[in-house]
Amino acid sequence: MNHNLPSWIDLHRHSTASDGELAAAALMDAAADAGVRVAALTDHDSVAGLAEARAAAAQRGLQLVNGVEISCRSDAHDIHVVGLGIDPECPLLQERLGAQMERRRQRAQQIAQRLAKLGLPDVLAQAAEGAPQGIPARPHFARALVAAGVCRQEKDAFAKYLAQGKPAYVKTEWPGVEEAVAWIRAAGGIAVLAHPHRYKMTRTRLERLIRQFAEAGGQALEVVSANQDPASVRQLAGFCTRYQLTASQGSDYHGPSMRWVQVGRMPALPSECRPVWPLLGIQELSA
Ligand code: AMP
Ligand code: MN
Ligand code: MN
Ligand code: MN
Repeated sequence: MNHNLPSWIDLHRHSTASDGELAAAALMDAAADAGVRVAALTDHDSVAGLAEARAAAAQRGLQLVNGVEISCRSDAHDIHVVGLGIDPECPLLQERLGAQMERRRQRAQQIAQRLAKLGLPDVLAQAAEGAPQGIPARPHFARALVAAGVCRQEKDAFAKYLAQGKPAYVKTEWPGVEEAVAWIRAAGGIAVLAHPHRYKMTRTRLERLIRQFAEAGGQALEVVSANQDPASVRQLAGFCTRYQLTASQGSDYHGPSMRWVQVGRMPALPSECRPVWPLLGIQELSA
């Protein structure tokens, strides 16, 4: 069953400044067309799309929330922490994001080496084309593997080669969750633990992560993302109450080719949740 509903606010989206398919301006247009009034841009480890997004948002009369999604590591898990309401000019944040992109540059080389060892065609150049700063993320590799005829769909490229535990997965020394929270706070932002149910953790392990995140100064859980099932939403709402966290909601939209995710469409936030947006100075609007 599809629980997605149109919403006035979408606090998690990607442009071509990371692994999204639409340029930042087109992404703001898509939000306006969908009836969204407040939209964040949260590219992976990059704030490079925010200036273009801001100009487009002004033209279309919608409010942009400056965001970023920082790659972290907690034990064996790759974790994402979203920063909302950040100052993209913050020198500390810029310096740390530069280091993240350097990690990504090195990781891309290693992924290419692993694919080569598997006897696959060399797709590094193709993957780098159109990738931000010429540094391909895993979805750029997935697209290149599809273009080269190695895989039929991007998700097959993840399932066979790129996902954790698969032969072209490269473990990366991302910073800890505490560090990402500290960078976001230094830039004046609110730290949100992104899509907590995507980490394939046991409930005990997930709760430990949430506690650690809250103790580090994290202020919100992403209780709702597109297609989030009702049981998960309820569990996360419960964690918000237990750890005095606010609740965020975002589609994690990456572009039109993932037809099951649309801008501004996601399940409703449970009424017992305290939304994150007042912390960003945003009052509730109607769609
Ligand atoms: P990276 O930041 O390079 O590690 O790539 C992570 C991104 O790959 C995520 O943000 C998603 O956009 C995408 N992704 C992760 N897992 C999958 C999957 N199983 N199928 C399709 N896309 C995925
Ligand atoms: Mn992504
Ligand atoms: Mn993510
Ligand atoms: Mn995301």
